[in-house]
Amino acid sequence: MRLLFLQRDELGPFVQNLIASQEVVGPKAKKNRFVFDKIESPAELRLDFDTTILPPKKYFFQPQQDLVKFSPEGFQGCIEPRPRILFGVHPYDIKAISMLDHLFSEGKKDWNYLANRHSTTIVGINVHQVFKTAFFESIGASIVTTGYDLFLTDIGEEGFVVEVATEKGEALLTQGKFSQAAPQQVEMHKEILYGQTDRCSQKLLHLSEEVAEKVNHSFHHPIWEEMAGRCFSCGACNLVCPTCYCFDVQDVWNLDQVSGTRFRTWDGCLTEDFAKVTVQGGTENFREDRSSRYRHRIMRKAVYLNSKLGGPACVGCGRCAAACPADLANPVPVLNKIMEG
Ligand code: SF4
Ligand code: SF4
Repeated sequence: MRLLFLQRDELGPFVQNLIASQEVVGPKAKKNRFVFDKIESPAELRLDFDTTILPPKKYFFQPQQDLVKFSPEGFQGCIEPRPRILFGVHPYDIKAISMLDHLFSEGKKDWNYLANRHSTTIVGINVHQVFKTAFFESIGASIVTTGYDLFLTDIGEEGFVVEVATEKGEALLTQGKFSQAAPQQVEMHKEILYGQTDRCSQKLLHLSEEVAEKVNHSFHHPIWEEMAGRCFSCGACNLVCPTCYCFDVQDVWNLDQVSGTRFRTWDGCLTEDFAKVTVQGGTENFREDRSSRYRHRIMRKAVYLNSKLGGPACVGCGRCAAACPADLANPVPVLNKIMEG
């Protein structure tokens, strides 16, 4: 691992040089929350953010994304990646991006996602402020060792220890004044990254493997009906989630009625129409009840994808809990309650 040091007053010039070289996206304040957005000047970058409203996946897997243009002459792809630096990504979001990388790469590769992903350089940052509903520590997403190109650890007034992880990260170093990290700075970086283990107020009380085993056998647990009774089926919990990757594909036709565009939009398994299909001229909804949709989301996060991802499909960011208008999307109390029973 190559560790460098960047003085605090050198961060601004570094970011300014990056902005001059390509698009830089990072956490910015928006009213009393934060969003990932284009950074026009270093002063806009808020590395002290707790979490953002939407996760950074929106730059690889856009909320609405054209897939193909069609006409009588044939098809034309819509893949137009552009170089971009994603600056200031927390470890749990880096872990979520690595999950999406895996899911969009298995089987037939999804180049509409992968092209955007490959053209992006990720600069990680340690969590300075913990979001009120986050639980990334107890789900194993507080530390990442891959999935980023550079990783900055804020070690206090002095500045940042910078881990150089890839050639893409190495390429950014020409834009700033870095020096070799001193032994004392390396120690502080380790202490901050690995020593802070009890900052989240929300906690899963059992190991993920135990949770997966028990939840998998809780298909008929009364909690699904109990929680779903207050669910609006709005899908907000799906839309803010960094690991949700379901989408709906639609065609929009041009006025000539022979050409058009096929596009996809984010979709969410909590919405009523998500599992509606057309069968022999009629429609069938195989998760018509809210309780079955609520259960499906929790099962999907805690059980169904574990074998593919090597653990739960949740990184404990806490966004779903904050986005839910009925205060019932937080997986922590649900999973803890199932484990108690
Ligand atoms: S389920 Fe909730 S806490 Fe888990 S990754 Fe998704 S939004 Fe974050
Ligand atoms: S955000 Fe809350 S109310 Fe909306 S679908 Fe999710 S659980 Fe239901």
